[in-house]
Amino acid sequence: MGKLLFWVVAIALIWSVLTLIRIAQRKQERAQADAEARRRAGAPGGGAGGRGTGGRAPERIVACAHCGVYLPYSDAVRGRGSDSGDYCCVEHRDAARR
Ligand SMILES: [Zn+2]
Repeated sequence: MGKLLFWVVAIALIWSVLTLIRIAQRKQERAQADAEARRRAGAPGGGAGGRGTGGRAPERIVACAHCGVYLPYSDAVRGRGSDSGDYCCVEHRDAARR
């Protein structure tokens, strides 16, 4: 009877150790996959409109809400408050508000 109890305990111990190893491996794999995905994406996760196009994502182009000229989003002047458009310059932003 003592022998049976020993085997039950031994098998339970081995099973729990194997389960822990499997969980640790899965966690490590997920961390590696996350790191690789972040490396491939380049910039850290941009929530809105961040579509992975492979390599560096092209600059977003916006149109001036006043004259319609196209310019990179980083060069655009953002409208303040209620007029939340993009403008090519401060003059056009102010002209649109008036
Ligand atoms: Zn303009």
